[in-house]
Amino acid sequence: MMARTDAGIRLAALYGHPISHSLSPVMQNAAFNKLNINVIYVSLDVLHEQLSAAVEAARGLRFIGFNLTHPHKRAVMDLLDTIEPLAGRIQAVNTVVNREGILTGYNTDGEGFLRSLRKDHDFEPHGKRIVLFGVGGAGRAISHALSLESPEELTVVNRTFARAREWAEKISARPLAWENPQVSREIRQADLVVNAAAVPLKLDAGLISENTLVYDIVYGRGGQGLAGLVRGRGGRWADGRSMLLHQGALAFELWTGRQAPVEVMRQALYHPGSRNKEETDA
Ligand code: NAP
Repeated sequence: MMARTDAGIRLAALYGHPISHSLSPVMQNAAFNKLNINVIYVSLDVLHEQLSAAVEAARGLRFIGFNLTHPHKRAVMDLLDTIEPLAGRIQAVNTVVNREGILTGYNTDGEGFLRSLRKDHDFEPHGKRIVLFGVGGAGRAISHALSLESPEELTVVNRTFARAREWAEKISARPLAWENPQVSREIRQADLVVNAAAVPLKLDAGLISENTLVYDIVYGRGGQGLAGLVRGRGGRWADGRSMLLHQGALAFELWTGRQAPVEVMRQALYHPGSRNKEETDA
């Protein structure tokens, strides 16, 4: 493995607040190590009022790029040189590439979610009934990606109904208010229920049918009890690590132009204490 203390080392970063829980550094550093790319990925706690300075630091210090998480995905757009059209439609950027001082914003959340569904959960959204909670940055990216896969029905539910209505119109989905009794009926018929809201889902597991996939995009939050109840009904449960993996692999590919070592990244993410065999043997 290359010694990553060379003078030529470059940085990649995650900007967010709060940030301490993030698994992105362990996953991205495993990938850079594996491909002998002389980059270190760090997570940095950046407040809203520090974002502009953090973006200029990335440009000035020749970071290869950076990721954004809450609360910066929309605010960063005003600070970049170009925005890829998909990120512009979603109005959220989670990945920035620095090409010789020109900063371009992308969004890999939607495609990362689709890859997670197909590769890790054997789920094909075409022709399916889908209910998604939360149309913040992540929910917009996911529902936009799902809408392009011709589901039978896509329902978006949001605490602030006006946002659900406005977004649903753009992606030809059906908006519902969180407290609308129709939400329960939609869940009962759903093949896929996605929680992309910032709060855990309060779901009556009795509504879950056999084979329904319940996907909470936030990893490590108190979904364990619900996960058991969903499984008890014959449903399936997914947490956000697989989406984190695939959106991160897509970001890695944008930064490096190389194919991401997805299985090395997965190992780092799911078993953060262990190192892959090649590294251990070296
Ligand atoms: P965001 O843009 O701030 O959106 C937050 C969403 O949560 C909005 O829909 C908001 O509804 C809703 N919400 C907030 N508080 C609520 C409450 N008390 N009750 C009901 N709904 C509430 O955040 P985001 O970027 O979309 O991220 C959402 C979550 O997904 C975060 O926890 C983030 O860490 C996670 N995430 C995971 C991955 C992954 O790879 N696994 C990727 C991206 C994001 P309103 O519109 O009514 O405010």
